Amino acid sequence: MKIFAPKETDPDETRAALDPLGAKKLTDLGITVVVEAGVGESSGHLDQKYSEAGAEVTQDRNAALADADVVIRVRKPPAAEVGKLKKGAIHISFLDPFNEPDLIDAFAKANATAISLEMVPRTTLAQKMDALSSQANLAGYASVILAASRMKTILPMMMTPAGTIAPAKFFIVGIGVAGLQAIATAKRLGARVTAFDVRPEALEQAESLGAKALRIDLGETKSEGGYAKEMTPEQIKIQIEAQAKVCAQSDVVITTAKVFGRKPPVLVKKPAIDQMQNGSLIIDLAAEGGGNVEGIVAGEEVTTKNGVTLIGLTNYEGLVPQNATQVYSANITNMIEHFLDEESKSFPIDLEDEILKGCVITYDGKIVNERFTS
Ligand code: NAD
Repeated sequence: MKIFAPKETDPDETRAALDPLGAKKLTDLGITVVVEAGVGESSGHLDQKYSEAGAEVTQDRNAALADADVVIRVRKPPAAEVGKLKKGAIHISFLDPFNEPDLIDAFAKANATAISLEMVPRTTLAQKMDALSSQANLAGYASVILAASRMKTILPMMMTPAGTIAPAKFFIVGIGVAGLQAIATAKRLGARVTAFDVRPEALEQAESLGAKALRIDLGETKSEGGYAKEMTPEQIKIQIEAQAKVCAQSDVVITTAKVFGRKPPVLVKKPAIDQMQNGSLIIDLAAEGGGNVEGIVAGEEVTTKNGVTLIGLTNYEGLVPQNATQVYSANITNMIEHFLDEESKSFPIDLEDEILKGCVITYDGKIVNERFTS
């Protein structure tokens, strides 16, 4: 079996699908590993390290794409590259499948097996392959460090002979994987943290990290498989109003509220932003999908008239590319190791397998994932 990790095509992407440690793990399993020259450049890994790990470093991307049994990358591929895959090849990456019907069709047409890492079920068995979590965790951390580097104040309280400096106030909206890490990081740095989530169990987790939980009576909020379900417009209205007071008192608001497979809800609106202090920050981790914040622009920074800066990066985990690559590479190599047939050294696709049933989108010329067939 031959695995190829091409360089990412998005010029802003700093991560790679494979680090030298992952390359070594795969070659030790008896797999041939090929990486494109420069694949690890922006995450701190030189080509030589991949060679030392037993991988072949190639300049010929097209030939490697056409020759590989498995292609691994971070971001979805450009549509033009799907047609270059070998018939029956497996392609593993984030795919954004709910927003990419044409790309999914292209995979089916190319007779390739598309595995979407977003769709790996969040079961105990699949935890080691859960790239959404491994990346969200680092995004949560990086968002707080970004805030700290941009604030005009420090985070902890300091009692000095020259007077007392008050701790910074953070408000975290959405207490999933990213939100929990943002809370933990802000607390470690000494900030005072308030947090909100529609899932009551998440509020308890925030409290166990030392944050103050904002409790809003929204009536019934549903969740399924650990994910929040979409709320009604009335519930969102109540939430927005209750949150506005906390926003007004916060130096930093970090939003992480996503709803799986849907556009994120807009939860911080202009009236709340207008009440915030000059110099405060809003960091939106949902910006790529449309954002939780009114006025956010994906990939940009916008400063409002009252001096509030809205940061809408699309790749917070990319701010710490070495660790993001390390854990992403581990997720991918864990998946390959898990499904590897030792004898034939191949990756058989069993659509009855619980994990593959969830994350294989196309197989054998067809869309096979039931979430995309109806
Ligand atoms: P996510 O990125 O889809 O969403 C982030 C958070 O936003 C979630 O906590 C969600 O409840 C919250 N949210 C949605 N709408 C909101 C609103 N209107 N207001 C405030 N918050 C809102 O979620 P995630 O971080 O990927 O994970 C969600 C859950 O799945 C967590 O409980 C996590 O612990 C769980 N999980 C379980 C496993 C596992 O068992 N293997 C793995 C990963 C995550």
